[in-house]
Amino acid sequence: MRQSKFFMPTLKEAPSDAVAESHKLMIRGGYIRQVTAGVYAYLPLGYRVLRKAEGIIEDEMEKINVPEMIMPHLLPATLWQESGRYKKYGAEMFKLKDRHGRESLLGPTHEETFTEIIAKNLKSYKQMPLALYQIQTKFRDENRPRFGLLRGREFVMLDGYSFAATRDQLDEQFDDQKSAYKRIFKRAGVTVHPVIADSGTMGGKNSTEFQAPAAIGEDTIATNEKGTYAANLEMAKSIDTFKQEPEDAKELTKVATPDCDTIEKLAKFLNVPATRIVKSILYIADDQKVLVLIRGDKQINEVKLGHVLDADEVHEADTADLKEITGSEKGGVGPVNADWADKIIADETVKNLYNVVVGAGETDYQFENANLDRDFKVDEFADIRTANEGEPDPVDHLPLKFTTSIEVGHIFKLGTYYTKTMGADFLDQNGKAKPVIMGSYGIGVTRMLSAAVEQHLTEHGVAWPKEIAPFAIHIVQMKMNKEDQTELAEKLEKKFSEKYDVLYDDRKERAGVKFADADLVGAPIRITVGKKAADGIVEVKRPTDDKATEMSIDELDKFVNQELG
Ligand code: ATP
Ligand code: MG
Repeated sequence: MRQSKFFMPTLKEAPSDAVAESHKLMIRGGYIRQVTAGVYAYLPLGYRVLRKAEGIIEDEMEKINVPEMIMPHLLPATLWQESGRYKKYGAEMFKLKDRHGRESLLGPTHEETFTEIIAKNLKSYKQMPLALYQIQTKFRDENRPRFGLLRGREFVMLDGYSFAATRDQLDEQFDDQKSAYKRIFKRAGVTVHPVIADSGTMGGKNSTEFQAPAAIGEDTIATNEKGTYAANLEMAKSIDTFKQEPEDAKELTKVATPDCDTIEKLAKFLNVPATRIVKSILYIADDQKVLVLIRGDKQINEVKLGHVLDADEVHEADTADLKEITGSEKGGVGPVNADWADKIIADETVKNLYNVVVGAGETDYQFENANLDRDFKVDEFADIRTANEGEPDPVDHLPLKFTTSIEVGHIFKLGTYYTKTMGADFLDQNGKAKPVIMGSYGIGVTRMLSAAVEQHLTEHGVAWPKEIAPFAIHIVQMKMNKEDQTELAEKLEKKFSEKYDVLYDDRKERAGVKFADADLVGAPIRITVGKKAADGIVEVKRPTDDKATEMSIDELDKFVNQELG
């Protein structure tokens, strides 16, 4: 490809609203342009990278015998009403009406669409195990689209769905997909940790996220140094190492604690450690009033809490509700005589504590020397706390390390939620009707490209991983009016184009402009054809090299084969 004919509008400066380095690079390099918030045009350079990533996916799916297909973007609301997700999915769904007033939506994900096709077209256990996938544009009206391709409102996703007659088949499909995903990320040059994850609104258990560590990441993952434990912080477990020495139960005493609306203030005021305080927080879980208890030095994890309560929606009660329900303001709420609570649930850290401080059920008052069972009751204990960095992991008891990261993929065992609600049954060996068992698999393809850039930034540009680089070789001719240079550059272009994607900078531009653009293209090999062209000598540089190296044409051949081979 001749660069003089290529459309790559580069910029010296990134727009001021670009925060993420990958976003800046893609704008400056002329990979993408924003059309409206969270919606991008993929210019030729960006589209080449996208197509390469899609090619890797297609290749790896072929290897595990998963065929590609394509679903429509425009979907009828009825399909989603059937699964019960039309309301539940919330404001992220782009909804529209057609001329007859029929409600429609733009697909944010396609569980329903695939389940419907299977319900109508798969009849027997003999047709399973089966899996299908598509690479398709998805629409989600994200609350805060940002960071370029990392969180768009229109983005490209690989979404796959598996259909099984037995749990064992599902497990096997899941493992196949997991291995394929690992190979996809490896080939795309994106370092990922597969981590234990929450399955969100998808209604499934057993889910793994692929998290790419990056400075800009919106997620946090907790890992240990041996790599034997890795979880999204939303789900991470840790071992609580605190132990209180047993004490005899003392008399319950009410004390005034003015202006103590935080644990820190309260601990200071009463001169006790936070570990002697039990926090009481009122949550509304669907319609239930749930009092949640946790030791003063720990924080409640609402994702875990949601799972334990098996509620669709969980939120902390606001100030007005708190006062109305408990009769007390924040800091005064407590578990003693909390008859107003439908349920009292406590974190495991509340077990084995003696003579603790709890809210007295009255604003600015606490009880000292409260004891479990004697003074207050707990309906259920569970792990509902947020793990802290440095705490021992639950597998090898090694300190947990936190890393910010980007969720680039998510796979989960869905089970029979959709097939049951949408009537996708099959006949088993005995002719008995059973719901198909599903798995669901997704990669944010465009997000993955941002993750690749984030992980491969150089001082002035990017070093694209080989397999997704827009061009493998970038030939940069220094002076377009020198015939010997043109002759050599054209010769190299012709030769390498037989095997590789070559970009040939044949523009009448200054060297500085050409090199700056080359840094943004980030091809794995840059060949500069300059002064020594007549002697058959060029300069070669990889994006991560500090300096270019002079090479003869023979040496260059060897180098190219070795690097790209
Ligand atoms: P997130 O928590 O980041 O919103 P999600 O849980 O909503 O992600 P899934 O529904 O599991 O994401 O979608 C599958 C994959 O699609 C994700 O792993 C992610 O890589 C990608 N993805 C999700 N939302 C976006 C988005 N707004 N822009 C780009 N990619 C996205
Ligand atoms: Mg989301």
